[in-house]
Amino acid sequence: MNGTFCISIDTELLWGRKDLDYSKFIERTKKERDIIKKLLSLFSKYNINTTWAIVGKLYEKGDEFWCGKDIVEMIKKKRIHELASHSYSHEDFTKISRKKAKQEFKKPRAFSFIFPRNHIAYLDLLKKSGFKAYRGPDETNTTKHIIQLINLLLNIPPRTSNPIKDKGLINIPGSMYFVSARGVRKYIPYGLRLRRAKSGIDKAISKGQIFHLWFHPVDFADNEKSLFREFENILKYAKSKRDKNLLEIKTMSQIARGFSK
Ligand SMILES: [Zn+2]
Repeated sequence: MNGTFCISIDTELLWGRKDLDYSKFIERTKKERDIIKKLLSLFSKYNINTTWAIVGKLYEKGDEFWCGKDIVEMIKKKRIHELASHSYSHEDFTKISRKKAKQEFKKPRAFSFIFPRNHIAYLDLLKKSGFKAYRGPDETNTTKHIIQLINLLLNIPPRTSNPIKDKGLINIPGSMYFVSARGVRKYIPYGLRLRRAKSGIDKAISKGQIFHLWFHPVDFADNEKSLFREFENILKYAKSKRDKNLLEIKTMSQIARGFSK
């Protein structure tokens, strides 16, 4: 049976922190373009096509922490990746009006959508705005540090799933967050993320389902070298399974299109 591996990347510069104290993120965000370059060259090296969900504001002109047309161009140039939307300005959809939600869905136009903080709302409007697919939340609340830690330490295999038809849209649920090394997470030993991602890929293959890994580029900013080594090993493992015809690697739109046929 064939499994599917999907990688989606929430790309937002400082927008993800606009309502929080982002002073600690200034230094990290300075590294973001370099991290994106490194990710793109790894994806080229292993010929892995991924989905980049971009905050609409990045397409506008302005300062480097909030705007990033150059980032969009870097991704586009590689030709193998999907450009998805991560909303116009990273609002929490469970906290805004319908009218505001409509505006947030307007730009950028794309096939796939990733809700800020994975907070799902206004799916009818999402569909009306022309989107076809979105990433549903992971099985567990992966933003909670303690759950991230338990999952990694006990190597609890991530949830894998089939795409789900939902209100005329296709939901491709998340499976695993590639945890950063910020704060207490710097104590997570090398190899645990890799081990758990491998279990996810193996499970996807044995069940014929999708393993959907996601993260933000800024998640690589702390302990960068070690995280990149770990991440590259996930890509190597996925490639080895693809070479044996056990695994397909697809973007969200490729999965959704294949599913609705
Ligand atoms: Zn986000």
